[in-house]
Amino acid sequence: MKNKSIGKGTCSVWAGEEKSLMQNATQVPVVHSVSFGYKDVLQWQQVALGEQKGHIYSRNTNPTVDVFENKICQLENAEKATSASTGMGIIHSTLFSFLVPGQRVVSVKDTYGGTNKIFTEFLPRINVEVILCNTTDHEAIEAEVAKGCDLLYLETPTNPTIKIIDLDRLARAGKKVGAIVVVDNTFATPVNQQPLALGADLVLHSATKFLGGHADAMGGVVCGNKELIDQIYHYREINGATLDPMSAYLLLRGMKTLALRVERQNQSALEIAKYLNSHPKIEKVFYPGLESHEGHQIAKKQMTGFGGMLSFILKENTFEAVGTVLANLKFAHSAANLGSVETIVGPPATTSHVECSKAEREAMGIPESLIRYSTGIEDIKDLVDDLGNALSKLK
Ligand SMILES: *Cc1c(COP(=O)(O)O)cnc(C)c1O
Repeated sequence: MKNKSIGKGTCSVWAGEEKSLMQNATQVPVVHSVSFGYKDVLQWQQVALGEQKGHIYSRNTNPTVDVFENKICQLENAEKATSASTGMGIIHSTLFSFLVPGQRVVSVKDTYGGTNKIFTEFLPRINVEVILCNTTDHEAIEAEVAKGCDLLYLETPTNPTIKIIDLDRLARAGKKVGAIVVVDNTFATPVNQQPLALGADLVLHSATKFLGGHADAMGGVVCGNKELIDQIYHYREINGATLDPMSAYLLLRGMKTLALRVERQNQSALEIAKYLNSHPKIEKVFYPGLESHEGHQIAKKQMTGFGGMLSFILKENTFEAVGTVLANLKFAHSAANLGSVETIVGPPATTSHVECSKAEREAMGIPESLIRYSTGIEDIKDLVDDLGNALSKLK
């Protein structure tokens, strides 16, 4: 079903499944088998050498995992995809499949916390230079890329202040110097943003978040052309961070409703952002769908929806005030996750930026009273009432 003309909703439901159905089943089987047997050793050898389609050993490939990869591959309009056990598994595999000592990476300060650790702790260890620019300073990023860049790593929208990066513009800068351009598309999802069409070489996801959408399975996936994906697959097949077939199944099942969920989350997040924006107890709201957001024009240009993620700062700028709001929300988990059918809230001080000091967070533009809000699929009226009630408990 390689058909660009079908919609995201249809693609979410049908893409990638047809070849793997068994004995007239309408649903993809969970193949728990570790290995795949061959009486014919010649055939076995051909499969092992990749000259014939088939599976050998589930650390390498597996039928259920294959379907998961095919579905996201088609949603991102890519040639090929490969997966890993977690988002970090695929980010690590992607970076370490290409980078060798002496090379130079350009990225931004607001990448996901785990990614930032690879940049600041693990890549320098193997003598890869990493330059982290101010996230929305496009001139500075272009200048660093022009000085020499083997891999340009971008993420948009970012965590937790939902900053927006112009992908088309920076992908062109990366191409000019021959860099591999990688985009973490976790927050946007392929429903709202298509980095490959904007010039990126690779698009990756923590499938744990919006793709799976039910907070019950972890996974990661990267999509791009065959040559790049084969290199990442080879690295991941050896490091062993393989996606488990049961998780692949849960992610697949979640992805059937991806377009439906994301459309709802786009709508609700915009309404909540507008509501909070005019609320007397709110200092500031970060949501790219608001015209007042500094990245609004870029977001409008490169996204088809503004996403389910937002954050806001309370006027009462204390960690206690955050505690009050969180404790009084009925329809939100206070947890370190996002992208699920349930609304999820959390302060960066306990989740993405737990390792920073209060002063460091303030310097990064993250005040103590910032709350990240991952909009679920509940009824919008209930979410707004819930927020209204929780905020009424503040001074
Ligand atoms: C959660 C997340 C990751 C890491 O994914 P895991 O599945 O938790 O390993 C990477 N990037 C972004 C933007 C994320 O939100």
